[in-house]
Parts: sequence; C-alpha cells; structure tokens
Amino acid sequence: FVKNSQIHDGIVDMDPIMHKHIAKVMRMKQGEKVIVTDESGQFFLATVFDLEGGRLILEKALDENNELDVDVTLVYGMPKGDKFEFVLQKATELGVTKIVPFLCARSLIKMDESKFMKKKPRYERIIQEASEQSHRNICPEVIAPIHLKELKDYLSEVNVVAYEESAKQGEVSAFHRALEKLTTSITIIVGPEGGFDESEITAMKDLGITPVGLGKRILRSESAPLYMLSVIGYEREL
Ligand code: SAM
Repeated sequence: FVKNSQIHDGIVDMDPIMHKHIAKVMRMKQGEKVIVTDESGQFFLATVFDLEGGRLILEKALDENNELDVDVTLVYGMPKGDKFEFVLQKATELGVTKIVPFLCARSLIKMDESKFMKKKPRYERIIQEASEQSHRNICPEVIAPIHLKELKDYLSEVNVVAYEESAKQGEVSAFHRALEKLTTSITIIVGPEGGFDESEITAMKDLGITPVGLGKRILRSESAPLYMLSVIGYEREL
C-alpha cells in the first residue's frame, strides 16, 4: 500500500515504512517487480528502480478487485486482552470495511480515546499486514471506541445485532432474511464477553436494528464477528 508515499509522473517515492519493507523485509533487488495499491484501491505492477533512494516506477494498472461488493461495518463490543487484535486481523482477511470498537454496559475493559490513540498505530499495522496478505484493494479503517449514543452514526442500509436470546427464540433465519435485502452496505454488531443487556437491545431496536441469532451454539465474542463475515462472504461470493 502506497498510503503515505508520494506518486508523481508514474514514480512512487516510498515513505520510510514502505521503503524498509521493500528493502529490508522483502529484501528486494533493483529491477524486481512488486504489486502496489494506491489510496483508491487500484493495483499497479511496479519495478524497483532506485532501491537506495526508495523509488518505484509504475509499469501498468492491473484490473484486480478483491473487495466484497458491499461495505461491511463491524461494531464490536471490545473484548479483553489481545482478542481485539485477533479480530482486526481476521475481519480484514474476511473483507470488513470499517471496524468500530463499542463500549457497552458489560464491557470488561476500560478504553478511552487517549488509550486507543496510543494503540492505533499497532492496530493499523495489523490491518495493513492482513490486507497485504489477503490482497485487499483497500485497508479497512479502525476508529476510536464509541458508546451507544454514537451508534446511529455508524448505521448502514441493513443493520443487525447478534443476540443470543434471538437464537433461542428461533430467530436463526433473521440474519438470512436481512442479507436478502442487502445491496450496498451492512452494519453488524456483536457484544463483548458478557453479551448485551436487554436495555441495549431495546435501544438498538428503536434505531431500527434487527436482532439476529447465529445458530444454536453460543459463540465466543471473537468468533461471532468472524462467523457473520463468513456468512456475508458466502452469500455475496460463493
Ligand atoms: N451473553 C452470553 C453469556 O454471557 O453467556 C454470551 C455472550 S457471547 C460470548 C458474545 C457475543 O457474541 C454476544 O453478545 C452476541 O453478540 C454474539 N453471539 C455469540 N453467540 C451467538 C448466537 N448463537 N446468536 C447470536 N449472537 C451470538
């Protein structure tokens, strides 16, 4: 990803991180070919023509699109420990567009904006590496944690919240029905380890969000978003 690098007249002036990656991590040599992606998600075939000076020359645009045909926003009840990083990596592999950490009533961690900003470069690195390995055209965005009152700003054409009580009530097909209406964008909402409390589900219903079950088994909070993204991928691509 040529994210912070300058492109002019078909030449990429690599930013220091990309330069280090090409020269030291990939150990590329002068004249070797590499595929790069610009801000818009366009792939290019490029050649390393000035390894020391950190410059690539763009050879040709490549017609490759590996993105889902819908935008997927994952609003995720932030879990404890490194599970969040695991979900960032796996959700990126599965095609997520935006990840929104959600601080809920039963969240077990305290994460404010300044704590998040300290970790953001690490989160972005995890996402970038996963995007590269999965040949994504874009790098998903991770934004600062939100509370319930800000949720309305992250809603899409279709909005669903995974709620295990819905699964118990036989609402297993609600997710399937919601996906049938999907044409452009979807927001999927998953609770933290302790789940959502009823008042949060009521508030989400008032925002027009549909509670959906994910089958009879209770999934861990880090498994549920990956299950939902896999189902979306299956419905849209397979
Ligand atoms: N509340 C449960 C408890 O404390 O026993 C478990 C919460 S579960 C570990 C974390 C989140 O995953 C839930 O808030 C929900 O969003 C989602 N989830 C897990 N399994 C699910 C299922 N079978 N149906 C719907 N949502 C599920």
